[in-house]
Amino acid sequence: MKILLNNIDLNEALFANSNIGFVPTMGSLHNGHISLIKKSLKLSNKTIVSIFVNPKQFNNKQDYKKYPRNIKKDLRILKKLKVDFVYLPKMKDIFKFTNKIKIKLYKQDKVLCAKYREGHFEGVVEVMIRLTEKINPSKIFMGEKDFQQLLLVKRYIEKNFKCKIISCKTIRNKNRLALSSRNIHLNNHDLSKAGKIASGLINFKKTLFKKKNLKNLILIKKNELKRKYNIKVDYLELRNTSNLKLTNKIKDSKIFIAYYINRVRLIDNF
Ligand code: AMP
Repeated sequence: MKILLNNIDLNEALFANSNIGFVPTMGSLHNGHISLIKKSLKLSNKTIVSIFVNPKQFNNKQDYKKYPRNIKKDLRILKKLKVDFVYLPKMKDIFKFTNKIKIKLYKQDKVLCAKYREGHFEGVVEVMIRLTEKINPSKIFMGEKDFQQLLLVKRYIEKNFKCKIISCKTIRNKNRLALSSRNIHLNNHDLSKAGKIASGLINFKKTLFKKKNLKNLILIKKNELKRKYNIKVDYLELRNTSNLKLTNKIKDSKIFIAYYINRVRLIDNF
């Protein structure tokens, strides 16, 4: 495994390679990331994993500061997986000597996390464009856990580059809570609560088949979750999986949730 500490290392390592699989991450790797990496190792000639905590996608400075970082452990995991390259860019490798990129979301995109985290996806898409320009991968592997991010990045990247976004299933723990680097901030009690919320919503979705007026049932569920678990819910909504429009039909839709437990913001979809 080659560790690439800057853009010179990156260019040297990649220039003679084709069919590169790229897994962008912010580190603190868990089995969710590992599933993406394994898929890339299977489908690509070479696999490159980036670890970069992107300041532009944090709408809250404190959240950026306390985002978990664990580079030594990450490198051990990546070495064991036999990843070809790890790219650990510094801020200047991403942002210096580059064109200005101004991402503007459409009005209809400003739903779910785009509504609650101002500038978040603009920051994600900008850095994904910068990384894709530098790495020139054939495929980028991304998780359905961050479904809205997956759709937005897919739209921008596939339109502008010869590159396919490969979507990967959400990996959950034994309580069905989606793995996330942020889960490290939760104590056992909160983890168990979050597991109950996830498994409750998986079962709730099954009950929606054959029911009418789903919008109202979801609103009732949202209020129930708030009361039962004492959580702040940003949204609980049923949306179409291709355009993220609100829907009342269970076909081609997912339930999306964002909520806070003890000031830790969790998102998921079912
Ligand atoms: P992050 O390090 O949180 O920016 O995530 C890097 C990539 O891993 C993104 O494409 C995420 O969607 C994906 N990912 C994060 N958690 C999971 C999970 N539990 N299952 C599958 N993919 C995930």
